[in-house]
Amino acid sequence: MSKDIFNTIIIGGGVAGYTAAIYTGRALLQPLMIMGNMFGGQLMTTTDVENFPGYPKGVSGPDLMKELHEQAEKFGTNFLSYDISSIDTSQHPYKVTTSYGCTMLANSIIISTGAKAIWLDAEGEYDLRSNGISTCATCDGAFFKNEELLVIGGGDSAMEEATFLTRFASKVTIIHRSDEYRASKIMLDRARKNEKIFWKPFTTVSKWLTDSSGKLISALTIDTRFGIEEEIPCGGAFIAIGHRPASGFLNDQIEVDKDGYIIHKENTMTSVQGIFACGDVVDRRYKQAITAAGQGCQAAMDCEKWLESKGIELVVQD
Ligand code: NDP
Repeated sequence: MSKDIFNTIIIGGGVAGYTAAIYTGRALLQPLMIMGNMFGGQLMTTTDVENFPGYPKGVSGPDLMKELHEQAEKFGTNFLSYDISSIDTSQHPYKVTTSYGCTMLANSIIISTGAKAIWLDAEGEYDLRSNGISTCATCDGAFFKNEELLVIGGGDSAMEEATFLTRFASKVTIIHRSDEYRASKIMLDRARKNEKIFWKPFTTVSKWLTDSSGKLISALTIDTRFGIEEEIPCGGAFIAIGHRPASGFLNDQIEVDKDGYIIHKENTMTSVQGIFACGDVVDRRYKQAITAAGQGCQAAMDCEKWLESKGIELVVQD
């Protein structure tokens, strides 16, 4: 059998993908992980992960990813840092094409591409992306020393971002469209106890305002109950309103739901035989590092069993 064919290609390098790599690696499948241009997925933008079992003192997201990388490498995973532009499931082995036009063949595929941050898309936002407005406090927070910042959202991400940003900012205001917060009690309480955090419930941002040099200076907001407009000064803003599954590259070849989450058909197998999916690209409910890891393990085990059940001869790479 040609060595251009991989037993398993894992697309996506977050917690789910790395766990799938560790399991398929230990099963001697010599997986190829195509990580995407951004190593490590969403945990790279998380500060302390306090709820991953086995870390009583917490662990930083990037440290956890580094350890997972080492562990996957130890069991024979090969890595490529490309984005995938498409897969072709019309014939087996399946074809995987990177954004640089390089193609590879795989007898099985595990999709673990995760989810990407959603932007608010208020007027003026596009030009300010990564230039005053960000979706990642860990990445960009340090650029906003002594500024007054806004965080939009009412979930755990918003609480975590706001709390983290108080290290740099003089004041952080959390803007949320109601007064009901999805955030867990512990994270909400932590934010509430922080004296630098202020609250603006029942509020949405309609427009971002800049000075003549294009620098963000304020947000035009609307009270969701009474429609009253207000201008809130800010030197920077962080959007934390959730994520969208990264499944666009599948081009309808694999069944997804109305929001783009991949649908499992048989355990972790998708609508295409031999293609499995795990982590946030599937999971609209739990979205935790540990659930992604658990599902990565399931996908790897299902993948290994499927290859065996089809009698597909394993390729041994040098
Ligand atoms: P969530 O989906 O939990 O929360 C999104 C928030 O954004 C909600 O408050 C929602 O408001 C608001 N929102 C959504 N769309 C809009 C919009 N168009 N305009 C204004 N507001 C909007 O997403 P998170 O990213 O916060 O969390 C996702 C998952 O990740 C959760 O399970 C969370 O527990 C987990 N997580 C865990 C962390 C940790 O443990 N360290 C850190 C961060 C996340 P509404 O409620 O009105 O819909």
